[in-house]
Amino acid sequence: MKAVYEQARECRRCPLHQTRTTVVFGSGNADAELMFVGEAPGANEDRQGLPFVGQAGKLLDKLLGEIGMTRQDVFVANVLKCRPPDNRDPQPSEIEACSNYLRRQIELIEPSVICTLGNFSTKLLRADTTGITRLHGRAEVLEIGARAVRLYPLYHPAAALYTPTTLEALRTDFHRIPQVLSLGAPPQPEPPVAIPEPGELLPEPEELVVESEVPPAVAVPEPAAQLGLF
Ligand code: URA
Repeated sequence: MKAVYEQARECRRCPLHQTRTTVVFGSGNADAELMFVGEAPGANEDRQGLPFVGQAGKLLDKLLGEIGMTRQDVFVANVLKCRPPDNRDPQPSEIEACSNYLRRQIELIEPSVICTLGNFSTKLLRADTTGITRLHGRAEVLEIGARAVRLYPLYHPAAALYTPTTLEALRTDFHRIPQVLSLGAPPQPEPPVAIPEPGELLPEPEELVVESEVPPAVAVPEPAAQLGLF
C-alpha cells in the first residue's frame, strides 16, 4: 500500500496535479472488511491530505458512530485522488487516469463490503450508468479484479447535508451495513489455472528460503501522515 501511495503522491497522469495541494490517497485500516469510496477531495481534504474531513466527513463519522464503528475500522478512499478545481464534477479522462489507484487499493485491502458513496464511485465500480437513486441500499455481489465483493451503494453524505429526505434514506441504508457485513465475503471465483503448452516444462518447486534474522541495515521510512494508515 505504501508503494502505491508513493506512486500516487508523485502522480502527473492528469491535469489535476497542476492545481492540487495534496494527493488525497485514502485513510483508515488497510485490513478493513468495509471500505467506502467517495467522489473526489474537496478544499478541506486537499489542504489536509485526508479524505472526508469537511462537513460530509463529519456526517460520515456520525453515521459510523451510529453503527458502532469508527474510521479506524474502515478504509475511506475516493475515485479521484486530487481535487477538481471549484469542486466541479470529475471528468471521464480524470476518472480513467486515476482508476488504477483505486483498483490497487481494493486489491490490497480485500474488503468484503464496499460502500460506494454517490454516483461517481457507483458507476465506476459497476461499470454501468445506472444512478444512485435506483441503486442505493441494495447490496449486490460484484467481481472487481480477481475478487468478488459485496457492493452496497449509498447516497453521498454531501447530498444528504441539505436534503432531509436524502439524509433519511442514507441513514436507513447505513444502519443496514452491519447486516451486509455479517454475510461475510461472497464466494470467490476460481483462480485461473495455468495450462502448460504441450512440451512446456512444469516449473521446479520453489527452494526453501530461510529468512535471515538479522534486521535490515537500512531504516524503513515511516509512511507520510497523508497516508493515514491505522
Ligand atoms: N467528498 C468526497 O467525495 N470525498 C471527500 O474526500 C470529501 C468530500
